[in-house]
Amino acid sequence: RKLGFAIVGLGKFATQQMMPAFKDCKHANITALVSGSPDKAKKLAAEYGVDPKNIYNYQNFDSIKDNPAVDVVYIVLPPSMHMEYTLRAAKAGKHVLTEKPMATSVEDCQKMIDACNKAGKKLMVAYRAQFEPFNLDAISRIKKGELGKLRQITADHGRIVKPTEEPAEAWRVVKKLAGGGSLMDIGVYSLNAARYLTGEEPTEVTAQEFSDKSDPRFKEVEDTIHFTLRFPSGVLASCTSSYSIQEVKRYRVFGDKAFLDLDPATDYYEHNMTIGTKEGDMKVSLKEGNQFAAELDHMAECVLENKTPKTPGEEGLKDIRIIMAIYEAARTGKKVKL
Ligand code: NAD
Repeated sequence: RKLGFAIVGLGKFATQQMMPAFKDCKHANITALVSGSPDKAKKLAAEYGVDPKNIYNYQNFDSIKDNPAVDVVYIVLPPSMHMEYTLRAAKAGKHVLTEKPMATSVEDCQKMIDACNKAGKKLMVAYRAQFEPFNLDAISRIKKGELGKLRQITADHGRIVKPTEEPAEAWRVVKKLAGGGSLMDIGVYSLNAARYLTGEEPTEVTAQEFSDKSDPRFKEVEDTIHFTLRFPSGVLASCTSSYSIQEVKRYRVFGDKAFLDLDPATDYYEHNMTIGTKEGDMKVSLKEGNQFAAELDHMAECVLENKTPKTPGEEGLKDIRIIMAIYEAARTGKKVKL
C-alpha cells in the first residue's frame, strides 16, 4: 500500500529533488500540497496528479485533519517553521517527516518530539545521507573493521551562499528563519556524518568562527566555522562549514589500517569513494541509489509497520544540541562538554 504525503512548502528542494523522487517510491505517494502560492500549487498538482481539492494554504492547513488521503506531512519550510508545522500536523493526527536542520532550538526540537508522542504519531528527520548507498557502505566497512582502529575524521561542507541571486537562499542569511548560518544548513552534514561514521556521541567540542561582518550576507548569521568533536573511543573529528568557499561536501575517515575518502560524500548524485591502504588507493564502485526515495519509503514503512524511524526526532535533537554547544564554544573560545 502507498501512503499519502502532503508536501508543505513548494520551494527549490521540494520541487527539484523530493517531489520527482516519489516516482521511485514503493510506499509513498503525493496526495496533497500546502503552499502560499495557489498558482504554483495548482500547476504542480496537475503535474503530479494531485486532486485540486487537496491543495491547502498556511491558513487552512489544520483542516487537513479531515483528509484521509493524507497520512504523512512532509515539512520542507525554512527551519524556524518546522516546529509550528510539526505541532499542527500532529494535532491534525498526521505523521511527520521534517527537513533538516530539525529546528532552530533544542526547546523546539523537544516540543516536536513531545507533540508527536502525545498524538501517537511518527516523527522523522529527513537525513537523506543516512539512506544513501555510499554512506551506508562507509558505515558498514567501518563496522567490519576494514579501516582498523578509527583515529580521526575530517569532514568539510561549503558553498557560496547567494541570497540576492537565488530566491531559495534569501532565508538562509536571516537568523530568525534559519536559526544560524552555514553550520545549521550544511555544517550539520559534517556533524551528522561524524556521528553516524563513529556510531558514537561526542563528549566535548571546541570551535572557531570567522565571518566578515562588512559582508551584508553575514550581518546576522555565521559564515565559516571550524569545530572539533571528541568521541569516547578517542576519535577526533575535525569539521568545517562555510558559506564562502567553492562547493565541497566530503569526508575522510582515518584508521590505523586504512582511510576511507568520500568526495563528494553528501551530494544528491555521483558519490566517489576511495579506500587507501599501504598497498595503495582503491576506487570503490557502487550502484548509485535514489536516497530521496529510500528516505520517503522508510518513513512510509515505519508508519505501515509501526516501527521507529532510523532518524527519529531524537536524532535531530542530538545534532541541534551539539550545534548549540559548537556556537557556545566559538563564542567563548572554551571547550564545551556535552
Ligand atoms: P526554499 O526557499 O526554496 O523553500 C522554502 C519554501 O518555504 C518556499 O516554498 C517558501 O515559499 C516557503 N515559505 C513559507 N513561508 C516562508 C517564509 N516565511 N520565509 C521563507 N520561505 C517561506 O528553500 P529550500 O532550499 O527548498 O529549503 C527548504 C527546507 O529544505 C529547509 O529546511 C532546508 O534546510 C531543507 N533542505 C534540505 C536539503 C537536503 O538535502 N535534505 C537540501 C536543501 C534544503
